Amino acid sequence: MRKEIIGNWKMNGLLDSERTFRELIAGYASPSNAPSPSGDNSTRLTICPPATLLLHFARIASSMNSGIALGGQYCHRAISGSHTGEISAEMLRDSGARLTLVGHAERRAAGDREADVALQLRAALSAGLSAVLCVGERASERAAGGTRTKLREQLRAAIDGCLADACKTDASEISTSEASIANLASLDNALADGRLMLAYEPLWAIGSGETPGYEEIAETCSALAADARDILAERASDGARNGTRDRAWDGTSKLSISVLYGGSVKGSNAASILRHVDGLLIGKASLDAQELLAIVAASNKID
Ligand code: PEP
Repeated sequence: MRKEIIGNWKMNGLLDSERTFRELIAGYASPSNAPSPSGDNSTRLTICPPATLLLHFARIASSMNSGIALGGQYCHRAISGSHTGEISAEMLRDSGARLTLVGHAERRAAGDREADVALQLRAALSAGLSAVLCVGERASERAAGGTRTKLREQLRAAIDGCLADACKTDASEISTSEASIANLASLDNALADGRLMLAYEPLWAIGSGETPGYEEIAETCSALAADARDILAERASDGARNGTRDRAWDGTSKLSISVLYGGSVKGSNAASILRHVDGLLIGKASLDAQELLAIVAASNKID
């Protein structure tokens, strides 16, 4: 299966970071990074630079036919309106992004609540972007054996809030009944297209140099995918019952929802982690072109 590698540059990068981006393009195209002959394990690389660089990088990527995709790090919940300093999902898409992160731990720490994250998810999917919904537990929650419960709570809040029809948060949002239909359609389309991805990012692993054991990552990520399917199946039968659905998620158990791992991934541990997950979300190591290319090369070698 094709692996997803996503580099989150966070608030790093000026115009001269174009050099790093061009180095990535050159390395990504080089024969040493070629996928193995079986062909189905090529890696999709997406860079999420700061918003100020998105359009610039998108133009470079497309003029060089690079195959590297671009993404946003965050989007606002509203389609447009009086939100000084914010960026909408549509703006990200207009600037060349194919996906956006939603609910990254650093956004949550800066004040985004579960309800905000849910509406951001809805905004991203409605705009036609793929969304990488980030969830993760604190060290204390893990120590108390509460990882799965915490992740399930975050998932449920995001999916339920995304589907909710009465979340008019400001005057620029659409009417309740229109929202209800649009929410279902967005989620339906996103699920059918595989545009909903999850990223398991333990808070204590981000930027710390520590990771959970590989078996623990494998178990947690597969539980996360199963919980997502269960929650979606529950919502599908609710929708069928109250007649608000025109399409059933009857194949929910087969839905493809990629689960990525993020938190202190680097060249030396990438291959071992990647054997257990659908991809990686990478912070610090993605700022170094050669380190990130080593991760892509490792990913391409996984059968
Ligand atoms: C992140 O912030 O999403 C992340 C995974 O960071 P790092 O790779 O630096 O731990």
